Amino acid sequence: MATKKRDIRALTKEQLREFFVNHGDKAFRGNQVYEWLWSKAAHSFDDMTNVSKKTREMLDENFVINHIEVDTMQRSKDGTIKNAIKLHDGKIVESVLIPTETRTTACVSSQVGCSLDCKFCATARLKRMRNLNADEIYDQVVAIDKQSRLYHNHKLSNIVFMGMGEPLMNYNNVIKAIDKITSPEGLGMAARRITLSTSGVPKMIKKMADDEVRFNLAVSLHSAIDEVRTSIMPFNATFPLKDLKESLEYWYEKTKRKVTYEYVVWNGINDRKEDIDALIKFCSYIPCKVNLIEYNPIDDGEFQQASERALNNYISNLEMHDIVVNVRRSRGKDIDAACGQLANKS
Ligand code: SAH
Repeated sequence: MATKKRDIRALTKEQLREFFVNHGDKAFRGNQVYEWLWSKAAHSFDDMTNVSKKTREMLDENFVINHIEVDTMQRSKDGTIKNAIKLHDGKIVESVLIPTETRTTACVSSQVGCSLDCKFCATARLKRMRNLNADEIYDQVVAIDKQSRLYHNHKLSNIVFMGMGEPLMNYNNVIKAIDKITSPEGLGMAARRITLSTSGVPKMIKKMADDEVRFNLAVSLHSAIDEVRTSIMPFNATFPLKDLKESLEYWYEKTKRKVTYEYVVWNGINDRKEDIDALIKFCSYIPCKVNLIEYNPIDDGEFQQASERALNNYISNLEMHDIVVNVRRSRGKDIDAACGQLANKS
């Protein structure tokens, strides 16, 4: 019986070089193949035209190249593109391309489903099925970069980890993917153009600080009052705000980098004066800015975007305290591609 073929992209460059040396070839062959696998995103050994046929056959006997496929693609009136991405085992995740005047952003997934249970998010209903591998994350970026060039005539400029899943619950693969995205052997993108968005896992925020990561951190806060936050993001019971605060102070201490707080204001949930006051207090801990995100309804109507008046109340109070606040209008709503809508209707 043939032994099971290994996923060649699980190998580091060094391991690939070793493989060739062990098979009587030159280590340099490893570099060539590595380049095909990553910067040239080859889907088949036969694509590797500067590698001999014999070597390609030998690779084919030992390895597979797992790759993703764009299963369906939907284009919104505003230019947003939502992709259902099929993984090698048939599972589906979603990745979105968001164009604006000045940039095109890829919103990528880090897990199939999600292990957290935010009440307002469509992905939470899927439960977590598995983590994505580093190459599956990287490939989403490559696919969106292609679409950006094709439909918007320029390359991808930014990446946000705001698709399906909690990136800090799949830390190693996310970091490996980012390494590849930023490396000249991958896409050569600048780390400062990448933002990781987390619900806030304190231990992992500290780990990121220790690892001296160079990308940006966003935290989905939505409330700075434990009781309220736990009611909409139940894992807050395990990771309460005081632990989050402490981890963010640690982050700032080590990295000197500002954090972005993502925040949706909902009717009757966090639209009171005391909610605003709590946020202002939370913002005093480290340098930060607040993104007020428009709510994208997921079918059941339990959550409703607060009124314009409530939103303006937030804005004026934050500004009064010199806190930078942006309002993020949602994009791609007509195709369920907006934040928290991934997994709606699919
Ligand atoms: N797990 C990560 C990344 C995925 S969610 C995180 O929590 O940050 C990406 C962003 O979309 C988060 O800020 C999340 O709170 C927000 N979000 C989730 N559901 C939403 C919805 N229905 N409308 C608007 N934003 C939503």
